Amino acid sequence: MTVLRAGSATDVGQVRNVNQDTVFASATVFAVADGMGGHAGGEVASSSAVDILERSLGSLGTQEGLIEALQMANESIVEASVNDPSLAGMGTTMVVASLMATDHGDVLTVGNVGDSRGYLFRKGNLSQITADHSISAELVREGSISEKEAKHHPQRHVITRALGISDPVKVDIFELVLADGDRILLCSDGLSNEVSGEEIVRVLSTLSDPTEASLDLVQRANANGGADNISVVIIDALVTDTHDDEPTQSHNVVPLIAPLPPIVEPEPAITPEPALEPKKREGWFARRRRLGAPRTITFRVIFFLVLIGLVVYGSWYFVRWYATSSYYVTTNGTQIVIYRGRPGGVLWFTPSVAEVTTTTTAEVLPIRLPALHGDVIEPSLSEAKNYVANLNQEYRQTITTTPTTTPASSLAAPLSQLNLAV
Ligand code: MN
Repeated sequence: MTVLRAGSATDVGQVRNVNQDTVFASATVFAVADGMGGHAGGEVASSSAVDILERSLGSLGTQEGLIEALQMANESIVEASVNDPSLAGMGTTMVVASLMATDHGDVLTVGNVGDSRGYLFRKGNLSQITADHSISAELVREGSISEKEAKHHPQRHVITRALGISDPVKVDIFELVLADGDRILLCSDGLSNEVSGEEIVRVLSTLSDPTEASLDLVQRANANGGADNISVVIIDALVTDTHDDEPTQSHNVVPLIAPLPPIVEPEPAITPEPALEPKKREGWFARRRRLGAPRTITFRVIFFLVLIGLVVYGSWYFVRWYATSSYYVTTNGTQIVIYRGRPGGVLWFTPSVAEVTTTTTAEVLPIRLPALHGDVIEPSLSEAKNYVANLNQEYRQTITTTPTTTPASSLAAPLSQLNLAV
């Protein structure tokens, strides 16, 4: 069985004129709400959220009931700010802890929207249960900035989620199996910005009365500047073993447990803290990172880029091969020239002179000249040279065998032997 004993304190701080925070504590439900918005907006938002929580007490014994109450508070604030222009833009954070009886025993369920925090203080360790919904905290979770940089980040006070801004609102839920002696601290950022984790640990380990400890923490926040409203709720757990009633189940408890990173550890480190099962806590990026997804994405991207590279290179290589793999014979003035490439070029590959032969157009039969002007293509340089040599040989044979005329019939025989195939 779990019995809770709580104390709380709230204060306007040293700088503000109005306290827009609202705290709440019943026997099993506890909350801190940090309102924002000009004029009366902030106060209205935080107090109306707590009002709705109080009116929903009967249904806060289940997770669904808790989430529903927060959605109702959200809707009602959205509605009020739409209906009353002087309240436009108001909103509030809310961190709620509710003791729930479950099949696995008593569980403390923490619901959170915004940057008010829930901490667990167990055996000298202080760990944050909630994840802040603020720009700087999200940058830290993404790994873009360090915890240290977040403390000085210009947008450290800008929250990314609140009740009353949009409908519906996303609520983070954390479940905690309480151990005897656990202390839960709920607070607004007016405390966490002013009082360090070490200082909180000092207070929680020395002042056993939750009200005294709450007042002391508020006093320290004020002493450190009190730049914002300060609110604290401390809940002490008295847990007595109830498993005697159900001995068969005591070894079958489903652990709602995952280690929390301690913010502040006691000097001699005590055994690691099994505590929480965070739900809906991770952002998309964090989850992808945890699952190793970014690595997969990187490999896929690299594979894809390599594939594109190969296709581009392959196409370029083929065009180059096509454009430069052949030779052609043509005339340049009176000279017969062999070019490498294709007549007229292909894309950006223009033909280049491979060889200026020693043969002139005068040393070739006139009947061959029209073909030469049309650019004769040969598959290799040697075949192109061979072609020119044959033309010249044909000319000299014709001149020596028939010095006077060149009858068409006499040409037929030598030509067929002369490999003039185009
Ligand atoms: Mn605040």
